[in-house]
Amino acid sequence: TAAAVEEQPIKPSVQINHTQLLINGNFVDSASGKTFPTLDPRTGEVITHVAEGDAEDVNRAVAAARKAFDEGPWPRMTAYERSRILFRAADLMEKHNDEIAALESWDSGKPYEQSALVEIPLVVRLMRYYAGWSDKIHGLVVPADGPHHVQVLHEPIGVAGQIIPWNFPLVMFAWKVGPALACGNAIVIKTAEQTPLSALYVARLFHEAGLPDGVLNVISGFGPTAGAALASHMDVDKLAFTGSTATGKVVLELAARSNLKPVTLELGGKSPMIILEDADIDNAVELAHFALFFNQGQCCCAGSRTFVHERIYDEFVEKSKARALRRVVGDPFRKGVEQGPQIDNEQFNKILRYIKLGKDSGASLVTGGDRLGSKGFYIQPTIFSDVQDDMVIAQDEIFGPVQTILKFNNLDEVIRRANASRYGLAAGLFTNNMDHANTLMRALKVGTIWINCFDVFDAALPFGGFKMSGQGREKGIDSLKAYLQVKSVVTALKNPAW
Ligand code: ADP
Repeated sequence: TAAAVEEQPIKPSVQINHTQLLINGNFVDSASGKTFPTLDPRTGEVITHVAEGDAEDVNRAVAAARKAFDEGPWPRMTAYERSRILFRAADLMEKHNDEIAALESWDSGKPYEQSALVEIPLVVRLMRYYAGWSDKIHGLVVPADGPHHVQVLHEPIGVAGQIIPWNFPLVMFAWKVGPALACGNAIVIKTAEQTPLSALYVARLFHEAGLPDGVLNVISGFGPTAGAALASHMDVDKLAFTGSTATGKVVLELAARSNLKPVTLELGGKSPMIILEDADIDNAVELAHFALFFNQGQCCCAGSRTFVHERIYDEFVEKSKARALRRVVGDPFRKGVEQGPQIDNEQFNKILRYIKLGKDSGASLVTGGDRLGSKGFYIQPTIFSDVQDDMVIAQDEIFGPVQTILKFNNLDEVIRRANASRYGLAAGLFTNNMDHANTLMRALKVGTIWINCFDVFDAALPFGGFKMSGQGREKGIDSLKAYLQVKSVVTALKNPAW
């Protein structure tokens, strides 16, 4: 209810110790001396000011990373030593779980319980996964047709530039730095301007764990300045980006125009969540609700096109409405809150514009449709039914708590319609019919399919998109490949008999 968001915001129990840039192991001001405010999404008020990195700071950070990679101890340490540092960093994160979670929720507006019980533990788990990889990365000896001994070396790629978004600040940080460090690279990472705080805290823990200076540099700042400088830097050997498809195109072009650094992209989505007619409706409603509303709807893989079989459609819509009305929206630091505010004013207004577009295009507004309360960036859990494929709300990524429910009649039809998207990030299925599940699983052009579940993010599971949802994969073994160079070595044999 509106009252729940009008109360005085709860004060997070954490101190903000780090607001400067982290370059070469030291917290420093930006070269320009400029700072920018990071805002509390509950109120729109300033939490603190952080140093604003720009091209000159990116140059300094890349130089430090270059030196750490070319001359420093990091790539030359034994893999076991690197592994131990990463394990220690994971232990420190686990020890400081609650402070990190508080910073994360304060800066991003996501429920504290979600940060503390789900996201930070996921980050720790992922760091341990990659710490475990450090001493298991090795090349091959392959058979040759001639009198040659042929080896394939797997070497770290060098200086990795990484650009991350605000929806899962620390999870995105971990997906990027985990594999890059496991392979022995040096890093310059630019955090999202909305959420700079948690990465600075955690980067310091990496140093406490023994990471050498210059291996992990963190730049807070804006996209067109700091981000673009990193993407187009001549001394950055690899770029990894997560964000919108539009910005993904920009950074890919910057990388191509500068030094052709290889790029991995994790971009937008409009993922189908398909409910077949055999589904237990109550469970299907709950799963589809979670698939869309989790994290205030701010997920690249959100199940944002809920396709429901016509036989159960009306009941599904009614029950989804009841569930949305029960959703607990409020101060993310209050116990039991499921949904906090959206990240900022820009996203807030964008979502309200899409809601208006939905109404204007003739979709039925089932519930919600407006802001919640009078301050901060809270939006009512919103549902549209009778949504048609050609409506903008069924095609664009809304990135907010707006569920669009579409009706379908048979499997072939829903396959065609689900695939008729420029995106291909993920899909959800809800059915006990194994044949239908198998058919859909093979037919859908997406990078991840969740069957009778959603948003499961095991460290070993590669994540990424088909089509305009991206290039390459993160997590799992696939992510390591993006941070390694491959070198073939052929040695002539004097005595080919052996
Ligand atoms: P959103 O619109 O959801 O904020 P973006 O794709 O714009 O998503 O942002 C994701 C990340 O990309 C952020 O760290 C942002 O600062 C950065 N970014 C935005 N524009 C550019 C750009 N022109 N060059 C490099 N990075 C950018």
